[in-house]
Amino acid sequence: MEQKNDRNVFIYHPDPIATGAFQTGDAICDCCKSPTSIFYTGPFYAKDSDLIFCPDCIKSGVAAKQFQGCFTAPDHCDHIGDPEKQEEICYRTPGYYGIQQEQWIAHCGDYCAYRGEISYHNLTPELLADFKATWNDRPQQIWNLEQVLGSLGLAYEGYLFECLHCGKHLLYAQRD
Ligand SMILES: [Zn+2]
Ligand SMILES: [Zn+2]
Repeated sequence: MEQKNDRNVFIYHPDPIATGAFQTGDAICDCCKSPTSIFYTGPFYAKDSDLIFCPDCIKSGVAAKQFQGCFTAPDHCDHIGDPEKQEEICYRTPGYYGIQQEQWIAHCGDYCAYRGEISYHNLTPELLADFKATWNDRPQQIWNLEQVLGSLGLAYEGYLFECLHCGKHLLYAQRD
């Protein structure tokens, strides 16, 4: 079997080292008890949340199962009516820390890939065009985009997602 690069195994979180979900360094995975050079530092919602996981134990779902937790809560995923995909996000995909409640957003009927935090000085004309094109596609979206953009890095935190189908970037923002 072909050995996949750890960085590329998560469809919905394609570069978890870049986003800070994983750190590099020597550690022992609390799930498989094996040494790992990459370990998870994102959220894990369980009785015991102070655990170290290797990418394999997250990807296989074993970590979530063994410690009865999730990386993103099921009620913090957009509803797309696909329980299997929701389970992939909650139990087999590294999560991210939001300033308040993180949300895994969807577009084109599927969950988007998480691309990391974004602040005002990272905005490009391409991203702005995508945000404008997709801002009203999510029924949960209640704020004015211009207002949110003007406050990014000040009163709001922005989280960047990329649709796996249309390729557009979406902004998820929340109040400080
Ligand atoms: Zn492991
Ligand atoms: Zn899309």
